[in-house]
Amino acid sequence: MTALSIRDLHKRYGPTRVLAGAGLEVADGTTTAILGPSGCGKTTLLRLVAGFDRPDTGTIALAGREVTAGRRGLAPDKRNIGYVAQEGALFPHLTVHANIAYGLSRRTTTAPARRARVAELLELVSLEQALARRYPHELSGGQQQRVALARALARRPALVLLDEPFSSLDTALRAVTRAAVAAALRAAGVTTLLVTHDQAEALALADQIAIMARGTFAQTGPAREVYAHPADLGTARLLGPGSTLPGTVIAGKAACALGALPLAQPRPDGDAHIFIRPDQVRLAATGTPATVAAAEFLGADTVLTLRLADSSTVDARVDGTVTQAIGTSVTVEITGAVHAYPRHHGLTSFSNHDLPGIH
Ligand code: ADP
Ligand code: MG
Repeated sequence: MTALSIRDLHKRYGPTRVLAGAGLEVADGTTTAILGPSGCGKTTLLRLVAGFDRPDTGTIALAGREVTAGRRGLAPDKRNIGYVAQEGALFPHLTVHANIAYGLSRRTTTAPARRARVAELLELVSLEQALARRYPHELSGGQQQRVALARALARRPALVLLDEPFSSLDTALRAVTRAAVAAALRAAGVTTLLVTHDQAEALALADQIAIMARGTFAQTGPAREVYAHPADLGTARLLGPGSTLPGTVIAGKAACALGALPLAQPRPDGDAHIFIRPDQVRLAATGTPATVAAAEFLGADTVLTLRLADSSTVDARVDGTVTQAIGTSVTVEITGAVHAYPRHHGLTSFSNHDLPGIH
């Protein structure tokens, strides 16, 4: 069954067109990640689903029931939605217990019932019971995020909305918190809509990924499917690093400075941007000659920027123990199939570093 159905949402703030025909279906009990660069309208979309704001036109239905139709809609507290805002936003003057119990009605629940529910929720998000008496400032950032999730789940919502829940956490804490949150969401069996500009977060957590660009969804599908077959160059870049080389599609191959490479998906003949992920580029005994132009040591791996004969460059992710001085001559081979996207006349090519959220 469809837990959430978003149809043709349009939203402007004054002259700024934020949503322009956004549509999305989320199946019951699944997690969908909306992935898009900063400012593309992700928070706006979540706020419309939660009912905090209204679209200019378009509809939103929860479990088949229309809750928003243009400017008309059901109040947020009538939607049975849990919301974790981008800034976490726990009440600083309330304990963890009081924060989590905040949404549990004092009229319909007893104090022991609320205590039991808070204990259950702390366990669900993998936090120690002793933390219930602390205040938000006595918790780490990751613990605060888990409390915010526990609070959002307290009333057993039909749908949980998470707005970049891990963006304020450092790398190590982010991985631990992400795993705890994923486990809690799975255990709760709750339908989840997560927005993020972090591709690793989207790929790790989501059953379905929806790529947001220019106020609409450029591509929606299972995480593996979207990663394997990005519909356009912007989507390919949003899903992870890669190099773009000028080339041509001829007879089912991508011809570029690295040779005639197999294509990940069939493409018509013509000028194209050839997109290659760094882990597809290998140093080999034979292959295309290149020169090491730059090396970035990342610990487990090193990313080498290699200059090719036509002076275009391609990044290679190699073992971190590989040391190659700048200027060294190497030969490279490409493993697997590459992506090609039509290069239209008049379309200026863009650099590999001009999209936010790409590292
Ligand atoms: P994201 O969450 O993807 O970073 P947002 O949905 O927050 O993006 O914002 C999308 C665009 O809408 C931005 O250009 C932002 O400045 C604008 N915007 C968001 N909310 C408002 C508002 N209340 N008033 C005016 N402009 C807004
Ligand atoms: Mg946002």
